[in-house]
Amino acid sequence: MQYEDFEKHFKPIQNHLNPETPIDGIVFETYGEELAFVLEQDVRNIWTVIVNDDNPYDTFVDNFKCDCNEQEEVCCCGKAQNEAVEQGLEPIWYISKGLHIVNRMGYIITEEKWNDETEDDVEY
Ligand SMILES: [Zn+2]
Repeated sequence: MQYEDFEKHFKPIQNHLNPETPIDGIVFETYGEELAFVLEQDVRNIWTVIVNDDNPYDTFVDNFKCDCNEQEEVCCCGKAQNEAVEQGLEPIWYISKGLHIVNRMGYIITEEKWNDETEDDVEY
């Protein structure tokens, strides 16, 4: 499925807890009150944003040294991502229906529910 079709058919909602998240503010974080909000939803309204972590963009982000990540292994303030984009690298994201843990970078909630026939991966 193309992202445009996903947006049109499923209608992702804005993240009202933090408007500064990726994909025009529709991604919810995988921790804290944003995750709690995600988990309150019906699973058929939930999608997981998954990164393919074997690509130049993620390798760059993973190895980026940032002030914010003395304890955390990976930069979480957005600087690494911005720097990677400035270098011409682009993330490869997939939006997959339901809740997933592996390689997740966030969650999306849609007004419309997916069903068993819904094509699984949306490329972004
Ligand atoms: Zn950082």
